[in-house]
Amino acid sequence: MQLINPIDAFLLASEAIELNQSVAKVAYIVAAVMFVLSLAGLSHQTSARRGNLLGIFGMVLAIAATVFGMMIDGYLWMGFAIVPAVIIGAILAARVPMTGMPELVAMLHSFVGLAAVLVGISSFLESGIEVPESEHLIHNIEIFIGVFIGAVTFTGSIFAFLKLRGSISGKPLMLPGRHALNALLILVSVGLGVWFCRVDSGGMVPLLIMTGIACFLGIHLVMAIGGADMPVVVSMLNSYSGWAAAAAGFMLKNHLLIVTGALVGSSGAILSYIMCAAMNRSFISVILGGFGGESSGPAAEVDGTVTEFSVQDTVDLLDEAQSIVIVPGYGMAVAQAQHSLAEVVRILLDRDKLVRFAIHPVAGRLPGHMNVLLAEANVPYDIVLEMDEINEDMTSTDAILVIGANDIVNPAALEDPNSPIAGMPVIEVWTAATCVVMKRGMATGYAGVDNPLFYKDNTFMLFGDAKQNVDAILSKLRD
Ligand code: NDP
Repeated sequence: MQLINPIDAFLLASEAIELNQSVAKVAYIVAAVMFVLSLAGLSHQTSARRGNLLGIFGMVLAIAATVFGMMIDGYLWMGFAIVPAVIIGAILAARVPMTGMPELVAMLHSFVGLAAVLVGISSFLESGIEVPESEHLIHNIEIFIGVFIGAVTFTGSIFAFLKLRGSISGKPLMLPGRHALNALLILVSVGLGVWFCRVDSGGMVPLLIMTGIACFLGIHLVMAIGGADMPVVVSMLNSYSGWAAAAAGFMLKNHLLIVTGALVGSSGAILSYIMCAAMNRSFISVILGGFGGESSGPAAEVDGTVTEFSVQDTVDLLDEAQSIVIVPGYGMAVAQAQHSLAEVVRILLDRDKLVRFAIHPVAGRLPGHMNVLLAEANVPYDIVLEMDEINEDMTSTDAILVIGANDIVNPAALEDPNSPIAGMPVIEVWTAATCVVMKRGMATGYAGVDNPLFYKDNTFMLFGDAKQNVDAILSKLRD
C-alpha cells in the first residue's frame, strides 16, 4: 500500500475544496436564475406549475452545491440534519389540508427567523469565516441587523400562526400608547446596536437584550393587527423572512442566500403593497400595527329577517338566470366544494349562460387561495375574474351564488364607517337582482364582523355544508 505524505494530502484536499467551491459557484448562478424564472412562472396560472418545478430544482441544486461546495468530509453529519428534515417536511406538506396552508406558511417563516437569530449569534461567537480587521464593524452591523429582523420574524410568525389557527383571538390588541412603545423599543435597539459595535469583547450582552426586545416587538406588531388585515401580515412576514435569510447570507458570506433572501424579501414586500392597495389600507399603518384603525364609535347593530332558500329554489333561480356570478370564499375551501361546483358551472355553460367567478384579493386564507382551488378543479381561467374586473357588472347580473364567503361580501365595509372592516373594498353582490348565500349558519367570518347582507330583501340563505348543497344542486341540474 502506498502512503501519501501529509503535505501532499493537504494539497490534494485544498485542490478538492477549491474545485468543489468553483463548481458550487456555477451551481449558485444556475440556481439563482432558476429562482428568478420560478417567480416569473408563478405570476400566472398557466405557468405556475412550471414555476413551482423550477423553484424545486433550484432549491435542490442550491442545497447540493452548499453541502458539496463547503467541505470534503462531514457529509454524514449533514445527512443527520437533512434526511430527517426532508422526511418531516414531506410528511407535513403531504398531510396539510389546503385550509391549513396559511398556518404552515407562517410556521415556515418562523423557522427562517429562528435560523437568522441562531446564525447571527453563532457567527458572533465563532464565525468560522475570515473577516479582515477593516470589515469587523460591517460584520457586526450585519449580525446585529440580521438577529433583529430574525427575532421579529420568529415571534411575529409564531403569533400569526396562533391567530390563523384560531388558538388566540383574531381581535387586535390595542395597548394604550402602543406606537410610542414601538418607537421606544426601536430607539433602545439602535442604542444597543451602537453599544454592540463599540465593545471589542462581551458584546453578547447588548445582542441578547436586543434579541429579547425584537422578540417582544414581533409579538406586539402582530397582536395589534385585526382579523381582516391578517393577509397583509402573512405576506409581510414572508417579506421579513426573506430579509432575515438575506441577512444570514451576509453573515455566512453566502451569495446565493443573499440573492434568494432579497428575491423573497422584495416579492413579499410587493405582494404586501398590492394587498394593502386592494384592501384600501395604508402599508405603513399595517406594518406599524393597525395605525389609525381606531373608529369613532361602535359598529352599527345588524338585525332583521333572514329569508331561507331551498336547493330546488336555487336550481330554479339558476335555470331562469342568464348571467350568473359565483363568489367563492373560505367555506368553499373548508367544504372542498370546488370539484362539484366546476361540474355545475360546466352544465350552466352548456346551457349558454354567462357564468363567471368573482375573486376577492383576500378570499380564503392565503393569497390566491381561490385561484388555486378553481385551477385544481379545472375551471377555465378566462371565466375567473378579479374583483376589480367584475364588480361593476354586478348590477346587470341576474343571480349571484356566494359560496362560503362572508367578510369579502360584507356591505358594512362600505356603509358603516365604524365597522372594523370599514373602507375595505368588497364584492358588491347585493346590487345584483338576486343573491343566494350558501353557508352553514349565521356565524361571522374571519374578521368577526356581523354581515347585513344576509338580511337584505334580495338575499336568500341556503343553509348547510357547501359541498353537500352544491352536490344536491348538481344532481338536480343533471336530472
Ligand atoms: P370568511 O372567513 O369571512 O367567511 C367564511 C364563511 O364560510 C364563514 O362565515 C362560515 O360560516 C362559512 N363556512 C365555513 N365552513 C363552511 C362549510 N363547510 N360550508 C359552507 N360554509 C362554510 O371568508 P372570506 O373568504 O369571505 O374572507 C376571508 C377572510 O379571511 C377575510 O377577513 C380576510 O381578511 C381573512 N384572511 C385572509 C387571508 C388571505 O391571505 N386570503 C389570510 C388571513 C386571513 P358558517 O360557519 O356559518 O358556515
